[in-house]
Amino acid sequence: MREKRRILDIYRITVQSAGKDAVLAPLYYLAEGIVPAAETLLYAGLFNEAGKFLAGGGKKEWLWAFVGMLAGLALLRGIITCVGSLAINAGVYEKLTAFLKEKLAEKCAGLSLLDFEDAKICSQCQRAEECVKKEQIGAVYMTSIVLISCGVSGAASALVLSSYSVWIVPMALLSVLPFFAGYRLLGEKFYQLKKEQTPARRKADYFWETLTAPRSVRELRVNGAAAYIEEKWRKQNRKMEKEMYRFRCREAAYTLACSCLQAGGMGVSIGLTFYLSVKGLITLGEFGACIYAYSRLQSTAREFFSQYGRFQEMLHFAEDYFSFIERKEERRGGEKLDHFPEEIVLDNVSFRYPGGKNMAVDGIHLTIRKGESIAVVGRNGSGKTTLTRLLSGLYEPDQGRILYGGKELKQLNQETVRRQISMVTQQFVRYFLTLRENVAISDIGRIDCSQKILQCLHDAGMEADLDDLEKMAGAEAGGREFSGGQWQRIAIARAMFRKAELFLLDEPTSALDPVLESEILQQFLTVLKEKTCLLVSHRVGLCRYVDKIVVMKDGKAVEIGSHQELWERKGEYWKIYHSQSQWYRA
Ligand code: ADP
Repeated sequence: MREKRRILDIYRITVQSAGKDAVLAPLYYLAEGIVPAAETLLYAGLFNEAGKFLAGGGKKEWLWAFVGMLAGLALLRGIITCVGSLAINAGVYEKLTAFLKEKLAEKCAGLSLLDFEDAKICSQCQRAEECVKKEQIGAVYMTSIVLISCGVSGAASALVLSSYSVWIVPMALLSVLPFFAGYRLLGEKFYQLKKEQTPARRKADYFWETLTAPRSVRELRVNGAAAYIEEKWRKQNRKMEKEMYRFRCREAAYTLACSCLQAGGMGVSIGLTFYLSVKGLITLGEFGACIYAYSRLQSTAREFFSQYGRFQEMLHFAEDYFSFIERKEERRGGEKLDHFPEEIVLDNVSFRYPGGKNMAVDGIHLTIRKGESIAVVGRNGSGKTTLTRLLSGLYEPDQGRILYGGKELKQLNQETVRRQISMVTQQFVRYFLTLRENVAISDIGRIDCSQKILQCLHDAGMEADLDDLEKMAGAEAGGREFSGGQWQRIAIARAMFRKAELFLLDEPTSALDPVLESEILQQFLTVLKEKTCLLVSHRVGLCRYVDKIVVMKDGKAVEIGSHQELWERKGEYWKIYHSQSQWYRA
């Protein structure tokens, strides 16, 4: 039932994406199915006429007529092959793959960020990607047509053969039946093996990327660690290769045994046909046509059974794509947030990552007022990043509530919430686009506001002119390479450029030295003084300039207050400040 639904799904999307090519492509296979049967009949006629002609009887015109019809059929086949293969390769596969990729990208964009923290979902996503890359869905469509074509061709050849002897047909079919059982079983096993190998393949891909990405190559070279990572990559690959080799050996042995059976069946059938001809039950021409039709039927039956076995395997792979595409997306509905609220309240908010041992954020109570600037400080792993993700709605709390003006965040329309937020994280993206695009991508509708872009770059501590805006960024894209600190300034300028109310900065300044970081963030706060800003840092340099400080420790907000209040309390904040104070001394 499920299989039937999937096949229908595949037909629907193929027709939707490839249009007329989806109709032209099957014609190729259908013609391929009918042409051999017609050829069989024409060859029988040709051999008979040739026999008669050589014996001194028969007409020369008939002989030429059969030759002409066979040549015409070959020409027709050539034309159909040409049109059909164009429709298959340039039409069905190309267009369908582009369509599937588009849907996959849309799905990745629509899933919640938390889904990507789940290893199972990451594996599923990778298998879906592989399914698209290897054109498995197009292959299911084309294979189903091949199966129909084989059915038509086999039926036509069987019909011709059965008119000579009814015994030849079952013999041909029986000799290729083991192929069917084998391919089906092996197809199932192949899919299972690929599925089991997904985590190992992801690891191998990761090591490969580390070995080849320019950023990591540099560090690996300096540390002399490339060989170490290479060995790890090789180990993963070797294990997968061994498993695959063992599988391929089993497959080859099985195919060999089946071929022996097929050859045996062929031998018996030729003997039977010869017997019929000796007995005078069939003519010499019919003997020749019979052998031709018999070998056609056997190869068609073999093709049918092997394609059917593979068809099941492809369907499994296609299922990976569909089950990923059908994953529930982040909620899109909900009440719209049409203006930024006077306050955001975190009420006893807790959160644990899937598979995580401890709470990443544990029982936080915090009120953020409109226009307030807040610094979230604490040591690495204390829960600062998780807090910003919860606040922006990227994650939902396991316990407690986040209230935007009294309305629970998870009930609000996420798109309207995001519109109010500008965020820059530690893992900001370095776009290999122009400098203009790198800044304006946060609010792409205003990409022509050159003065504003330049102003944001200036406020983020980066001087540029109008010409610079059109230059490509990133040496990998053939453009200008920036230092880590310059990329960070661009990311901050990007955040500033967005017309938003709540600005969340999660340590995008870690590549800058502490004093410079403090200066840039001060400038950021000055420019956005009317806005609500929450800055995450493990350094306390800017804390003097914000309205409120939240000190995080083991997921808890252990201290909340102004610099003065927390300084006088001589608690966690005081300790951190003390340990870092030498960084800020002139
Ligand atoms: P900070 O930003 O203060 O460095 P995080 O919010 O990144 O801290 O992390 C808080 C805790 O959650 C840490 O103990 C960290 O190990 C854990 N954590 C972070 N990301 C994940 C994740 N994807 N899966 C599991 N645990 C995570």
